[in-house]
Amino acid sequence: MSTITIRDVRTILTAPEGINLVVVKVETSEPGLYGLGCATFTQRYLAVATAIEDYLKPFLIGKDPQRIEDIWQTAMVSSYWRNGPVLNNALSGVDMALWDIKGKLAGQPVYQLLGGKCREAAAIYRHADGRDLAEIEENVAAFMEQGIRYIRCQWGGYGGRNDCVTPEGALPGAYFHPDAYARSVPKLFDRMRERFGFELELLHDVHERLAPIEAVRLAKQLEPYRLFFLEDPLPPEQLDAIRMIRAQSATPIAMGELFVHPREWVPLISGGLIDFIRVHVSAIGGITPARKLAVLSESFGVRTAWHGPGDVSPVGHAANLHLDLNAVNFGIQEWYELTDRLREVFPGCPTVRNGYAYVNEAPGLGIDIDEKLAAKYPCRNELPEWTLARLPDGGPGRP
Ligand code: MG
Repeated sequence: MSTITIRDVRTILTAPEGINLVVVKVETSEPGLYGLGCATFTQRYLAVATAIEDYLKPFLIGKDPQRIEDIWQTAMVSSYWRNGPVLNNALSGVDMALWDIKGKLAGQPVYQLLGGKCREAAAIYRHADGRDLAEIEENVAAFMEQGIRYIRCQWGGYGGRNDCVTPEGALPGAYFHPDAYARSVPKLFDRMRERFGFELELLHDVHERLAPIEAVRLAKQLEPYRLFFLEDPLPPEQLDAIRMIRAQSATPIAMGELFVHPREWVPLISGGLIDFIRVHVSAIGGITPARKLAVLSESFGVRTAWHGPGDVSPVGHAANLHLDLNAVNFGIQEWYELTDRLREVFPGCPTVRNGYAYVNEAPGLGIDIDEKLAAKYPCRNELPEWTLARLPDGGPGRP
């Protein structure tokens, strides 16, 4: 039997592109055998680091790294109160690292351990925004030139056009106008379909910024534009309105990037109320719960659309892709450009060609980290402005 044990668990904080990333390195008693995992919760990275260093590390040292399921289950309940983005991200860092180690021990990429490939690469979507329609068109056209066939269009970031008339003394923040935003979206897609036709797949993210009844109206209005999906029309706090959206529109719905407990998706999946699960894989605890969620979704015809923005580390992007290659019900993979700088810090990054992302075929997740280089890009404990959302009257909004 295996005598390999976990020797050390280390947290690596780095921000090569100015976005705080949290990576976990699990080292084993076997010389040179270690794994990497993504634990990135950009806005609370220090809390995640504490959860790893002060709580998970002492829990894990001396344990068998091959017992992934057992470690996941016992670590999750070891605090008795469980779940939440801080603890789940911390556990994800460990979980992905253990899958990485298991792959290295087997001499196989992680997708092989999940059951092998259903496809050679994952189709990706990119995010095109702009201050005006002409700029969005330009950005869409530039992605099409690169062979991208799925594009998420946003007018002014996530609809954050600041044409609000605020009261005197209104507090600073990222102001946006939900009604102006809702009116702008059908115009946006009218223009995009007119310019690019219907061969291109178009997506849109509401970012949970509308009142439920406005989300219903928007989903109906967007129906003629045949979106690939409409993302997060409702916040986790107001999910009941999904039945209204569903009853009144055939616009495909992707939901859940803010969910942190796998059970949150269950009624939406089993009730036929969504078409794609949006999941920030590290926020639910890593590959172990994500693959189960993918399998549950398969039974109900729901496809996967793992969250893949800049606040997922390249290790997390690699983990997403290993899941994508295996899942029969893979839908689409959100993609963020892994810049040359990120590729230097994380050797072995996935590559993109003609609209498809490919994993590195090396054993495990296929990705490494240059810790010396990573240390050159320290994280900064500052909130991004977009998280400080405010409504036209100065009241708090949802980012
Ligand atoms: Mg989103």
